[in-house]
Amino acid sequence: MGEFELIRHYFAAAPCAQGGDGVVRSIGDDCALLALPAGEQLAVSTDTLVAGVHFPEASDAFLLGQRALAVSASDLAAMGATPQAFTLALTLPSASETWLAEFARGLQSMAQSCSLALVGGDTTRGPLSLTLTVFGRVPVGKALLRSGAQVGDLLCVGGELGDAAGALPLVLGQRETTPEISAALLARYWSPQPQLALGQALRGRASAALDISDGLLADCGHIARASQVALQIELARIPLSAALRAFAGEEQARLCALGGGDDYRLAFTLQPDLLAQLQADWPEVRVIGRVLAGSGVQLLDAAGQPIEPPRGGYQHF
Ligand code: ADP
Ligand code: MG
Repeated sequence: MGEFELIRHYFAAAPCAQGGDGVVRSIGDDCALLALPAGEQLAVSTDTLVAGVHFPEASDAFLLGQRALAVSASDLAAMGATPQAFTLALTLPSASETWLAEFARGLQSMAQSCSLALVGGDTTRGPLSLTLTVFGRVPVGKALLRSGAQVGDLLCVGGELGDAAGALPLVLGQRETTPEISAALLARYWSPQPQLALGQALRGRASAALDISDGLLADCGHIARASQVALQIELARIPLSAALRAFAGEEQARLCALGGGDDYRLAFTLQPDLLAQLQADWPEVRVIGRVLAGSGVQLLDAAGQPIEPPRGGYQHF
C-alpha cells in the first residue's frame, strides 16, 4: 500500500475526517481551511508521543489512537476552548494494515467523543511517533489562562487524581491485580476523557486553569508562577479513587496524585462564592486548597502542618 492509498484508506475515509463545524476544506489539499466565527479566537496545541518514551513500543494500537487524541484535546479543555479540528503527523516503522486499522479506529472513537474533525496531517517512515495538533475556538478574551489566580481563591480539581500514574505497573506488565481494579486504572491511563464540557463551563468563572499532565504539584507550580501567587494544597482533600487506594495503598496513591502525571483532569482556581453553583452541575469538582500571597506550592498534612513536597513532575531534560 502506497503513502497516498494509506492516507485515503485509513484517515481520509474515516467518519471523523468528513468535515464538521467550521471546516471549510479538509484532507486533500495543501492546507486545511478552518472558519472562525466573528468574535472568537483560535486555540492551538501540539503534543508528540514517542514510542518507548510516552508509551510502550508494543502498545495496543486502538488504545494508542484513543490516548493520543485525548492527551491533545485535554489542552483545549484547559483553555475552555470548544473543540473544532485536529491534524495527525504519523511516523511509522512500517505500514502494518492491522496496526493502522486499529489505530484509526481508536482515533475515530476519541474524535467522535470530543467532536473533533481530522483535517490533515503528514505520514512518514521512521521510529513510531505521533504528533497531534488540535484546534479549538474560544470567545475573544475568554480563554482560561494559567495567569489569573487571585489571593483568596479556592484551588479545585475536576475529579480523582493519580489513577493513570498508578496504572503504570499494569501498563508495563510489572504487576497484576483483580480484573475490576485493573480495568478501572487502565481505562484512566488509556482513555482519559478530556474535561471539555467542564472547561467550557469554567469560562468566565475560573480565574486560572490548566490540565494536569505532569502531576498535580508540578502543574500547580505552573499556575503559581504564572499568577505570581502561592498555592496551598491540603493532602487529605486530594480525591483518590477506590481502585487506586486498593491497588497502591493510601500513601502511594497520594504520591501518584502529587507527582505521577497523565491525569488529564483540570486544576483551576475559583472565587469561593462561585463554588456551590459549579458543584451543583459538576459534583466531581473538589476543593483541594487555596491561593495565598507568596510563591510556589505548599503542602499541608491531615493535621494542617506544612510538609516537604516530594520531588514532582516528569521532565524530559
Ligand atoms: P503535502 O505534500 O502537500 O504536504 P501530503 O502528501 O503530505 O501533502 O498529504 C496529502 C494530504 O493528506 C494533505 O491534505 C495532508 O494534510 C493529508 N494527510 C497526510 N497524512 C495524513 C494523516 N496521517 N492523517 C490525515 N491526513 C493526512
Ligand atoms: Mg506532507
